[in-house]
Amino acid sequence: MAVYNPKSLKAEEFINDEEIRATLEYAEANKNNVELIDSILEKARPVKTDRGCVCSGLTHREASVLLACEIPEKIEKMYEIAEEIKLAFYGNRIVIFAPLYLSNYCVNGCLYCPYHLKNKHIPRKKLTQEEVKAEVIALQDMGHKRLAIEAGEDPVNNPIEYILDCIKTIYSVHHKNGDIRRVNVNIAATTVENYRKLKEAGIGTYILFQETYHKESYLKLHPTGPKHDYDYHTEAMDRAMEGGIDDVGLGVLFGLEMYKYEFAGLIMHAEHLEAVHGVGPHTISVPRVKRADDIDPDAFDNSISDEIFEKIAACIRIAVPYTGMIISTRETEEVRSKMLKIGISQVSGGSRTSVGGYTEKERPHDTEQFDVSDQRTLDEVVRWLMENGHIPSFCTACYRAGRTGDRFMSLCKSGQILNCCHPNALMTLTEYLEDYASDETKAVGYKMVEEELERIPNPKVKETAKQNIEDIKASNRRDFRF
Ligand code: SAM
Repeated sequence: MAVYNPKSLKAEEFINDEEIRATLEYAEANKNNVELIDSILEKARPVKTDRGCVCSGLTHREASVLLACEIPEKIEKMYEIAEEIKLAFYGNRIVIFAPLYLSNYCVNGCLYCPYHLKNKHIPRKKLTQEEVKAEVIALQDMGHKRLAIEAGEDPVNNPIEYILDCIKTIYSVHHKNGDIRRVNVNIAATTVENYRKLKEAGIGTYILFQETYHKESYLKLHPTGPKHDYDYHTEAMDRAMEGGIDDVGLGVLFGLEMYKYEFAGLIMHAEHLEAVHGVGPHTISVPRVKRADDIDPDAFDNSISDEIFEKIAACIRIAVPYTGMIISTRETEEVRSKMLKIGISQVSGGSRTSVGGYTEKERPHDTEQFDVSDQRTLDEVVRWLMENGHIPSFCTACYRAGRTGDRFMSLCKSGQILNCCHPNALMTLTEYLEDYASDETKAVGYKMVEEELERIPNPKVKETAKQNIEDIKASNRRDFRF
């Protein structure tokens, strides 16, 4: 039987079923152990030092105790600490992105996904490079600077060369004042050689959702196709890092399996990356299964309530404080609102999940991957964020300045965020306001920018940021960054 070892490169050893089960038993046995819970909460709190804030994070066992705990006042404390951590490391900035669906050809048999091979009534579509260009122009015209590209797995229709061509096309389009400055990639697990090619193409984060860490369920949920190979899928992030990709994004598709099992697996995966590569995941996404063509979410009996969903997010925030957290338009405005407060640092906005959806006037549903709950425009999302005290950020500076992997993490820990990420957010927000926003959004935005500029501690940085913002307003000069 496999023995738990976070440093191992074998899936069954770093995501070890026996260790997860022991963790769940430990969490259940201690869910009312107030003394232990208090000590875990104390450990989780950010500590202020003269060089910024530090946070120790939690082990998967400690974090699982918090998730199991049902004592209302302790849950309140978790939310409080999650918010404290969020503000300490991410401030009130929220990074904005949009997904871009390239192709829905897929050879896998994933039971929850409408792109599965046996779905014969979904039209199959793959963008040509001309169509990619048109989609990118439409996205730039909305104001987007950061994309996550999505594709099904199909070695004939969507080989790595196709994905690389698309990335090249995306980066080459400069329409009016627009450009896409960071392309994150969400494609199926692949080889070290292909990850190296993605790295060379200049991608930001490589995102791959585990879907479920529970091997037996995984095998049933992915009955056919290359994705059936649990070990190959689970070990993908190690290959990505071997191929030179510094920033990787994890995720679980909540609803497929028992959430406590998934949560322990997710934190163990983060611990594994830290133990082997010296740097944890750059982001964690928290998608929930949605209705889609040929997919009824009720067919999966592990769906979770909004309340549990929020508790999971708070526990992730506490356990891995330096990892960004992403929520998509799968969720409603109401759920997104609560999640922002307790830890989310990136949201998508104005998303269309169909292949070629951005160039259509009306939202198309025929090739959609899932129903979008938050159907507001990007302008509406940006305004809503600001009205709730968040700064929408279109910043892509870190990755372009080489601050990836552990270099990004050290910026996060250094307390320099208010002198770096904060002004970058304000400058990119000003670009958005100037080039794309409605008058109503502009009014809210400029007021926010003015107020927030005063919070920059370093006087020199503050002066430069103010000057750059004036330049953005007065000319076509763009893309300033610290
Ligand atoms: N094809 C790639 C793969 O297999 O990893 C990734 C791209 S896929 C377009 C992105 C993600 O969408 C999947 O990893 C899955 O978690 C999610 N997804 C699939 N079907 C979904 C559904 N019905 N509701 C919500 N999310 C879904």
